[in-house]
Amino acid sequence: MLKLGGSVVTVKDRFLTPNIEAINRLAGEIADSRVQRIVIVHGGGSYGHPLAAKYRIAEGHFGEKHQLIGFSETHNAMVSLNRIIVKALIDRGLPAFSISPSSFIMTKHGRICDPPLEVLKYAINMGFMPVSYGDTVLDHERGFAILSGDQLISFLAVKLGAEKVIVGVDVDGLYTSDPKINPSAQFIENVTLEDLKGLASGVGGSRSIDVTGGMMGKIFELTLPVMNGIEVMIVNALKPGNICRALSGENVKGTKIVKG
Ligand code: ADP
Repeated sequence: MLKLGGSVVTVKDRFLTPNIEAINRLAGEIADSRVQRIVIVHGGGSYGHPLAAKYRIAEGHFGEKHQLIGFSETHNAMVSLNRIIVKALIDRGLPAFSISPSSFIMTKHGRICDPPLEVLKYAINMGFMPVSYGDTVLDHERGFAILSGDQLISFLAVKLGAEKVIVGVDVDGLYTSDPKINPSAQFIENVTLEDLKGLASGVGGSRSIDVTGGMMGKIFELTLPVMNGIEVMIVNALKPGNICRALSGENVKGTKIVKG
């Protein structure tokens, strides 16, 4: 399973701007790796977050009619980004197949319920390359929810029995604090669930690690596949060659999250 972060496939500070160069290069790397069975999930970056925030989709449906159009608009933006990525893969001769989460997944309080996975499983067995994404979904309790690409890939990895999850972001992996803010942040090559315990509550585990923003959600979600014995690695997908090497099982700089 491969997650391509919103910070990789879009230009984060420019509204509705795909990072075409990165998308085309990554499509080439995926093709070059000759990986056979793979599911790709991408994030929203500047396609998802600004619209979802504008219409307060993540907070649920409060009966405000304009939120319906906001939901549609946010979902549609994600479909546009997905189409660009799927097209880039097809252009490399890969049988990419768009899978829209909101058409078969509902959440309850923001967490995935029990979706039917028959189409996905069938497609993978036939040799397709499913390409899904973080999406706006309908929520049994709240009306709407944002299903993050990180929750989706972690859920699918466990349900589909993935061997490994490679998470591509715009930094080399996990650091002792946000490397974009703190230049003296230390890179962490291996981290255990014990190390990460208590991060969300701020209590901290046995190591002093300060995780904020998108990385916090990622770490929280990725705990599930790690607990299920799946190899999870965070790598920098903006560095050319990294994703090809990671998919081919070669050594890449990155953070491995292990059970302990
Ligand atoms: P994506 O959109 O690619 O899924 P995010 O932008 O949501 O990823 O999250 C990745 C970002 O998290 C990094 O670019 C980094 O700025 C930030 N971050 C915060 N804390 C940390 C940390 N301790 N280690 C690494 N990155 C961190």
